[in-house]
Amino acid sequence: MTFNYRCSQCGKTYDIRPELTVCPACVAHQADNEPLRGVLEVELHGSITGAFDPFELLPVERAYFPPVPVGGTPLWEPRNLREQTGFPRLFIKDDGANPTSSFKDRASFMVSAFAKKSGISDIALASTGNAGSSMAGIGAAAGQRVTLFLPETAPLAKLVQALQYGATVYRVKGNYDLAYGISLEFSRRKGGMNRNTAYNPMTIEGKKTVSLELYQQLGRAPDVVFVSVGDGCILAGVYKGFRDLLQMGLISAMPHIVGVQAEGSNALCRALATGRFDAVPAFTLADSICVDVPRNGYHALALLQQFRGELVAVSDAEIVRAQARLSASSGLFTEPAGAAAFAGFLKVFPRLERGATIVVLATGNGLKDCAAAQRGIEMPESLISSVNDIL
Ligand SMILES: *Cc1c(COP(=O)(O)O)cnc(C)c1O
Repeated sequence: MTFNYRCSQCGKTYDIRPELTVCPACVAHQADNEPLRGVLEVELHGSITGAFDPFELLPVERAYFPPVPVGGTPLWEPRNLREQTGFPRLFIKDDGANPTSSFKDRASFMVSAFAKKSGISDIALASTGNAGSSMAGIGAAAGQRVTLFLPETAPLAKLVQALQYGATVYRVKGNYDLAYGISLEFSRRKGGMNRNTAYNPMTIEGKKTVSLELYQQLGRAPDVVFVSVGDGCILAGVYKGFRDLLQMGLISAMPHIVGVQAEGSNALCRALATGRFDAVPAFTLADSICVDVPRNGYHALALLQQFRGELVAVSDAEIVRAQARLSASSGLFTEPAGAAAFAGFLKVFPRLERGATIVVLATGNGLKDCAAAQRGIEMPESLISSVNDIL
């Protein structure tokens, strides 16, 4: 297999090299307050020989990946939910089972390997929390130095996690969008690799592995995939994985992808309706999908249009209810951003085909944000000192 970059906007191709992040021709027209222009995709040439091995479809050789078990996450068959909703082929992909407890490990793993192959040992990034704690953990396993810019509102668990892994953490007086800008400036001045989502093409390439795994676990492509959307990189990664499988002739149709946004952070929903991005301050308790301007917005929008994907928006109240329902009915406790995808399923399932193979991506572990999870439960008010107090 051979690999090159192709610009998702203008189609120009480039050799893969670490200094190249976005298409120089397209980024020349970049304005503030809009998604990234010229996001690069990895293009594959060749065919699969022998048994299917996801590593064969990745642009960095296996030997460069750090010794940490990313991916291969469990595909749950939630019996109670299947019975309650009437979907016997409903599956939940538990990406909170990754080493740092979120889907982001798929991207960090790929970026770490690419940096290693390129002889780079410093990696910087901005993050709402998960990408940062993920890069910190995967970087620790790889022996790479990680510098992280976190908005002040990031959940405590994600901050503590990154510090445990030994990352240098700067807390930013402002939101993710400000942290993103600072981290890019930091990388420009200090060198090293920048892992910002979409800006580093290897983030989407790593995220595609979820689709390759779903194909392995199901023995086919699912019919419908629900994925929560912040910057739109997981969405693009899911599409990329299935496109690679189509290209290799392993599957015959693109699954229907349903992106789920929080109502208070629905820039991509608005853009799908109007055709353009506006910058409206976002707010949702699902911090991992809280972004004013989706960095991968143009690319994600083009993919949704090309493959007739769909977007739904769910309220924070729906997210909170979906989180508690998933926990209590299946035993899978996912963070609000992961629960958003499930809330999207609960919102639209009456119009889905009953026999369809449906996958909901649970993208992060619920313990990542206990404060948010407390909203969906009732804390026991009083203390007891004897069983007689309750019987
Ligand atoms: C980052 C993240 C998302 C959203 O991914 P994008 O690529 O930003 O759309 C969803 N869920 C969790 C848990 C995340 O950390």
